[in-house]
Amino acid sequence: MQVRVRYAPSPTGYQHLGGVRTALFNYLFARAHNGKFILRIEDTDKERFQEDALEDIYRTFDWLGFHWDEGPDIDGPYAPYLQSQRSEIYRKYAEQLVASGNAYYCYCSPERLEELRQGAPDVSGVPKGTKSSGYDRRCRTLSPEEQAEFAARGLTRVIRFKVPLEGSTAFYDELLGNIETANRDINPDPVLLKSDGLPTYHLANVIDDHLMEISHILRAQEWLPSCSLHTLIYQALKWTPPKFCHLPMVLGEDGQKLSKRHGATRIMEFRKQGYLPEALINYLALLGWSFDDSREFFTLKELESVFSLEKLNKAPGVFDYKKLAWFDGNYIRKLQPEKLTSLLLPYLKQDGLVAADPSPEQIELLSGLVPLVQERLTTLSEVSGLVGFLFKDIEEYNMEDLIPKKLDKEQTLEVLKNVEQVLKGFFDHSDEENENIFRDLAKEMGIKLGDVLLPLRVALTGSRISPPLFESIRLLGQAKTLKRIERVIKLF
Ligand code: GLU
Ligand code: ZN
Repeated sequence: MQVRVRYAPSPTGYQHLGGVRTALFNYLFARAHNGKFILRIEDTDKERFQEDALEDIYRTFDWLGFHWDEGPDIDGPYAPYLQSQRSEIYRKYAEQLVASGNAYYCYCSPERLEELRQGAPDVSGVPKGTKSSGYDRRCRTLSPEEQAEFAARGLTRVIRFKVPLEGSTAFYDELLGNIETANRDINPDPVLLKSDGLPTYHLANVIDDHLMEISHILRAQEWLPSCSLHTLIYQALKWTPPKFCHLPMVLGEDGQKLSKRHGATRIMEFRKQGYLPEALINYLALLGWSFDDSREFFTLKELESVFSLEKLNKAPGVFDYKKLAWFDGNYIRKLQPEKLTSLLLPYLKQDGLVAADPSPEQIELLSGLVPLVQERLTTLSEVSGLVGFLFKDIEEYNMEDLIPKKLDKEQTLEVLKNVEQVLKGFFDHSDEENENIFRDLAKEMGIKLGDVLLPLRVALTGSRISPPLFESIRLLGQAKTLKRIERVIKLF
């Protein structure tokens, strides 16, 4: 059997962590089995359709760097891959289900259905489901005469699935095992085809998975409750369902479903914040899957060969933003300096530190400082905060930052005046000599070396956190260095 899997997003919002984790697992599973990965857009819900959602899908995966083998943007044998272009197919099967007695027309008005949802009494005597849309199955038992009458009155109609009233439905989940649900607990007769002639998710999803010869459905666990219904639809159409595998959930650290409350969830937001796609992919792969209990680093290529469903965890994956940042820092350190420079440039430009068309001096400055910040960055966007002092004057000093905890204002002023003298000779000495000079100064003043260097660091960079101090001084140059010290001295 050829492995064919799909990612089937609805364009109702932006691509977020959970969806992309699903897409990634599908992609990896396809690659690990020499199969095909398909993108199918489930855009049958006109009301929830979001204009730029499709664009976001393309941009997200372009950035992440993995792609589908078949989809709306590339020709494939099962086209079209946009459900909105397949309406005729769904309608045909919906009618077929009515003809075979597995579905029926429902003429109920939206008002009537709304009343039922509000808990109006059951009028039909047919048992209601427990998890329900509240539908009382009235039209399930309409006589042909009643049907003809409703049709003659020009009432709009939908097609509903006839969920069996008795018995139970079972399917096998590759991760969770056998799942059996009493039919009376299945939503009473969900709509398959809406009054506008468009299918609901359930109908279109089942039909397309079958027609597109999907072998395995790997999807979020929130779809597990729909799966019994889908199983019934497969049975009614006399089709063999694909294998099902509902993926472990992704939770926030508080055990709740991951959401905006926990932090960014939109993938393009991570890009903006300066995460590397390699880091995000690596971390997402470990959310609900593991190779063994220890190995953490995987390139996409490596994942493509080692991924397997057997290693999925039943327990939910917990999304830890700090861990992602840790991965990102690691991936930044692995980059070639030239590559890192090119990735940092957009951030420096955006923050107005480097011109759109950088001067040769700026380029030189950049190549000097990139190796210094490489060790310190956890995301690309942090670069401006770290190196901004090299490109422009410090806007404002924070006195609290300038004065070390152990010193008072006068002592700090004295440190700065002494440091100013030392700096006049700084460029004539080696780093080692300079270090000794600063050490001697600290000893003479009876304070710690750190308390000598801290006011200096803040004076030059505007911050207590900066690239290595001596290298920063060399990149800044003697004139600017002395000017900043003088300026700070005047603040006291
Ligand atoms: N369109 C559904 C979604 O947005 C697809 C669920 C499935 O994979 O069956 O997640
Ligand atoms: Zn009805």
